[in-house]
Amino acid sequence: MDNKKEDLNEKKQFFIDNISKFCDKCGNPFSIEDVNIIQNTGVSSIIHFSCSNCKSKHIATFVSPIGMSSRVSLNTDLDTKEIKKFAMRNETSIQEILEIYKFLKNNTKIVL
Ligand SMILES: [Zn+2]
Repeated sequence: MDNKKEDLNEKKQFFIDNISKFCDKCGNPFSIEDVNIIQNTGVSSIIHFSCSNCKSKHIATFVSPIGMSSRVSLNTDLDTKEIKKFAMRNETSIQEILEIYKFLKNNTKIVL
């Protein structure tokens, strides 16, 4: 029994249920394999969705206390690693999550 993996899959399923059950582009249902949790502080989370069918990518933020989620489409030149790097620069507060969200919405490239 791998409890840690079970736990992670449960979280991924939670995000699928609460943020995005289907791909915006082609309507393909997301599975836990398509979800990548970039950051999860318990209060706020950044989640990466990648459609296995049409390859479109989305990034979502989820703020647990108020159940607020938002998501944006991602340009392909921004991979999960880069987002992670950006998100991990500081301890991320809700404000910073929203800034990352705004940043991702307005930019296609990360300049550090
Ligand atoms: Zn799709």
